[in-house]
Amino acid sequence: MLNQHEDRHTESPALLHRTTTVERGAFAMGRCSCGWTGPARRARDSARRDAARHIDTP
Ligand SMILES: [Zn+2]
Repeated sequence: MLNQHEDRHTESPALLHRTTTVERGAFAMGRCSCGWTGPARRARDSARRDAARHIDTP
């Protein structure tokens, strides 16, 4: 007989890591709610990609 009691502690990483892109002068960098800051990029798209990669591999 299976015990069907499950603890629902499966939190999505997306909820723990809320990323934004911040601009500093000519550069843009990803920033996360967990405190992570990505490298300065010339393109905001690259900064956003860094943030997306950070969520995949914290
Ligand atoms: Zn994060």
